[in-house]
Amino acid sequence: MATHVDLNTRAKMPIIGLGTWKSVPTTVKDAVKVAIDLGYRHIDGAYIYKNENEIGDAIAEKIKEGVVKREDLFIVSKLWCTFHEKSAVKQACLKTLSDLRLEYLDLYLIHSPLGFKTGCGDFPLDERGLILPDNTNFLETWEGMEELVDAGLVKAIGVSNFNHKQIESILNKPGLKYKPANNQIECHPYLTQEKLIKYCHSKGISVTAYSPLGSPDRPWAKPEEPSLLDDPAIKAIAGKHHKTSAQVLIRFHIQRNSAVIPKSVTPSRIAENFQVFDFELSKEEMETILSFNRNWRACPMRMGVEHKDYPHNEEY
Ligand code: NAP
Repeated sequence: MATHVDLNTRAKMPIIGLGTWKSVPTTVKDAVKVAIDLGYRHIDGAYIYKNENEIGDAIAEKIKEGVVKREDLFIVSKLWCTFHEKSAVKQACLKTLSDLRLEYLDLYLIHSPLGFKTGCGDFPLDERGLILPDNTNFLETWEGMEELVDAGLVKAIGVSNFNHKQIESILNKPGLKYKPANNQIECHPYLTQEKLIKYCHSKGISVTAYSPLGSPDRPWAKPEEPSLLDDPAIKAIAGKHHKTSAQVLIRFHIQRNSAVIPKSVTPSRIAENFQVFDFELSKEEMETILSFNRNWRACPMRMGVEHKDYPHNEEY
């Protein structure tokens, strides 16, 4: 079974990565160190997670100890929405590289198609709590991303939370230099993303599944919302394989050739989430899990609903 996903740059992205959103600075360093010791080689981060400094500490320690070399690791970060102006992209990337104390990223993603107004903090909101947009177009942001590849600061570039029309507009951009290598999207049995994944794969764009466990620690979670980890049907499939629900939820993506980035700061769970290469979901089980789709999003980005580039009004 595949341990990597091929990128259109010819690079290989380890199929499981450690998610780091909500991993507070005091715990993320140990989480990354534990993960690297356990064999994780892919770390998913972002400027907006406010913990890249501590992730950098962990990486530096593991390289110093001789556990890994830089080239063994696949480090991902994301350009925040207030840096969508072409002229702002390089500075934002340099900040992330300096925090991580790295010379290059393996993959740098536009975090979201939504450009935010600059100069008012990370989440500029109007009086209704809706995002104040900037006046950029993500096609100009993409040109800034392409310059990072040419400058040797990033090995590959991609997008996150883009719908297929938005990807299409990048692919059709006059003068396009590099195609996106990856689209990182929310994906799990309640949001199976069949059409978007099929579209991305048909264009040679790899997919990474975020919030694979349904993001139970998302700050806006409500008790009445569905819980993947407690779903009896997932538990039943897990029981048949003597595995946990989390392991089934992670394995589901591996068998779809998507990378998957479960987040945990708990050493036993970081280990559990990586123990997914010793069992296989049957074709019928995969189909059953796909049938649980209900187009439910843990991360709907509701504050962006009126933004011209809000991605989730399209079917896919
Ligand atoms: P997630 O990975 O679906 O779930 C994380 C939660 O599950 C945490 O509360 C974690 O608890 C718990 N957990 C982890 N392993 C478990 C296990 N084996 N059993 C039971 N509970 C377990 O949520 P996520 O953080 O939203 O998504 C994963 C990563 O995707 C993020 O961290 C981030 O890197 C990325 N992401 C990207 C975007 C984007 O816009 N591109 C959006 C969302 C997420 P503990 O940590 O306490 O163990």
